[in-house]
Amino acid sequence: MARVYVAGSINMDLVARAARHPRPGETVAGTHVATYPGGKGANQAIAATRMGANTALLGKLGTDAFGDQLRDFLCGQGVQLDYLRQTAAAATGVALIVVAESGENSIVVVPGANALLEPDDLANVPIAAGDVVLSQFEIPLATIQQLFTRARAIGATTILNPAPAQPCPPDVLALADVLILNETELAFFADTASIALASLDTIAAAARRLRARSEQVIIATLGALGALAVFGEQQVHIAGHRVRAVDTTAAGDTFAGAVAARLAVGYPLERALRDANAAAAICVQRSGAAPSIPTAAEVEALVSAECRPNPKKIGPVDSQ
Ligand code: ADP
Repeated sequence: MARVYVAGSINMDLVARAARHPRPGETVAGTHVATYPGGKGANQAIAATRMGANTALLGKLGTDAFGDQLRDFLCGQGVQLDYLRQTAAAATGVALIVVAESGENSIVVVPGANALLEPDDLANVPIAAGDVVLSQFEIPLATIQQLFTRARAIGATTILNPAPAQPCPPDVLALADVLILNETELAFFADTASIALASLDTIAAAARRLRARSEQVIIATLGALGALAVFGEQQVHIAGHRVRAVDTTAAGDTFAGAVAARLAVGYPLERALRDANAAAAICVQRSGAAPSIPTAAEVEALVSAECRPNPKKIGPVDSQ
């Protein structure tokens, strides 16, 4: 069975709730505090694992208590950690999140050990032809560059989710066989004005402009509107599921992890997109990051419900 390798960030999210955000120099009393495993790499690896893929997470933790907790958590999720490193040279990545009563968040992210994931740390990862290698922009770009170059030479498929968007040499994007971007990232990398309210044709045109070559697949995730992909001469739109979104944290990560898992078992792109769109639609109906990511069985149930014909339309015609 082909494997999915996710090279990416692992963070502990520290979430404090308070009536309002402190002003500079001020202390405010909070009401609750909690810790949650996070980081795009960890979320995407959990998503691919829950979709049934044999998934290994390539990343770096500190040797501190958060590092140990995150390792245990990821192990409990069934993610393979054979190539996960721990270093005493930096603290485990942390996101400090303050949620005010207004619902507005302020976040400080300290990458810590994530920023120390070097190309050499991944030199022995046994990537094979047919495997899928997925990454994001929360680890050093040089590490992604070397990993993807090696993966493509071996015959693996590379998927890049260039989030959060940041300036990068064009050859980094070109090393991806598949790019998955949300609307903000697509506008940033295609160097175009906001596409949030643009037509599907305008979004597809921006995606085509971004392509490094005609075989590169560009997938734009469109929130409630689903996702749009351009590949070769084709353009496919998968409509979003009509659901009540309560928390969109990890929706993009669920989508990317599910695409990787489905491509690893050889599903055609359109089917992978349909399943990823369903997985992300389930995710937005639940709170939190990891706890909101669905299993393959949940995704298959939603997809088959969607495909079932509407009984009202196929029932006998009432002639009276
Ligand atoms: P990100 O979370 O990275 O900004 P999006 O907002 O585009 O990315 O969401 C990723 C995917 O999650 C979408 O392509 C879609 O499949 C699903 N999704 C997000 N918001 C909703 C929603 N309100 N209703 C249904 N599906 C959604």
